[in-house]
Amino acid sequence: MAVDRVLLAEPRGFCAGVEMAIKALTWMTRIFPGPVYCYHEIVHNEWVVKAFERVGVVFVDDVSSVPEGAPLMLSAHGSAPEVVEAAGNRAAVVIDAVCPLVTKVHHEVKNMSRKGYDIIYIGHEGHDEAVGTVAEAPEAIHLVEPEQGLGDYSPADPDRVALVAQTTLGLYEWEQVLEDASSRFPALKTARKSDLCYATTNRQAVVEQLVPECDLILVVGSHNSSNTQALVRVARENGVAAHRIDSADDIEAEWLEGVGVVGLTAGASAPDHLVQAVIDRLDPEQGLELWSSTQEEEYFPLPPQLRAFVQTLQTLVEAGVTASGPGADSWLERDREWTATEALDLIST
Ligand code: SF4
Repeated sequence: MAVDRVLLAEPRGFCAGVEMAIKALTWMTRIFPGPVYCYHEIVHNEWVVKAFERVGVVFVDDVSSVPEGAPLMLSAHGSAPEVVEAAGNRAAVVIDAVCPLVTKVHHEVKNMSRKGYDIIYIGHEGHDEAVGTVAEAPEAIHLVEPEQGLGDYSPADPDRVALVAQTTLGLYEWEQVLEDASSRFPALKTARKSDLCYATTNRQAVVEQLVPECDLILVVGSHNSSNTQALVRVARENGVAAHRIDSADDIEAEWLEGVGVVGLTAGASAPDHLVQAVIDRLDPEQGLELWSSTQEEEYFPLPPQLRAFVQTLQTLVEAGVTASGPGADSWLERDREWTATEALDLIST
């Protein structure tokens, strides 16, 4: 299956929100004897979800199926307010691993709704993030699928319309709806740049740079990962063949017929060892080239509920009660040095 060259995108794979969520759930598995419950997949990646299932995490789509008094984590995609409330009433410990950049969009929705705006939300119906965000103000929000556009949307007051978006859309998709909405509603309120997060836009920017250099682009990530699917669409929109793969096993020989240069990237929830396995499978005869556009420095601390809970545990440890964890006494301070990849290694060994 050898190709000539592989151009490896940088940045790719885990974003700061996914790093935080994976490490937080790893801590839950080390603190509690199990099972630990998680509302929705912690991140949208099949391999990651299976790794946590192997150590006893139970993923649920309905908080009422969590046994009363069990430990519960809420996923990185953000949860509806009624889910957060139900979780608090049911579980002994609830840790919300929502990404802060999703929380920011929730706040925008609440704020605009309070001010009486009709809100256009560009997102994918049924996606966990969209479901949680729309639930913040269902009476005020109109969900627009990016590929369908505004259609015949007609707000109560064209001078009080706001535009917000799922964090993981294709940038070109956001821009298309923005352009239409701005021309129809000149007083449109929207985020200064967009609601698309830094990880989404950075990964898409590298793909756009890769397109003219490649015969094919492969994107490692799962089918329900919105930002992964957006990377595939961005590549195709720019005129190159592109496929999403969960792992190297998904590569079809016919995709590589006549292909010399392959661009390779990964969605924000895909572990890097899956990318490395794809490189091994492609076996580039002229080697691998790193295609780097920017360095990401973003870091999101562990959820405050988890930090507070572990600080309480530490107090107990100091009082003579033992607890297991990744090892450092001052682990809260050292969290930044510890990666989600190391966390996954820890639960996988
Ligand atoms: S893709 Fe963006 S919004 Fe989603 S978890 Fe990562 S940083 Fe947060």
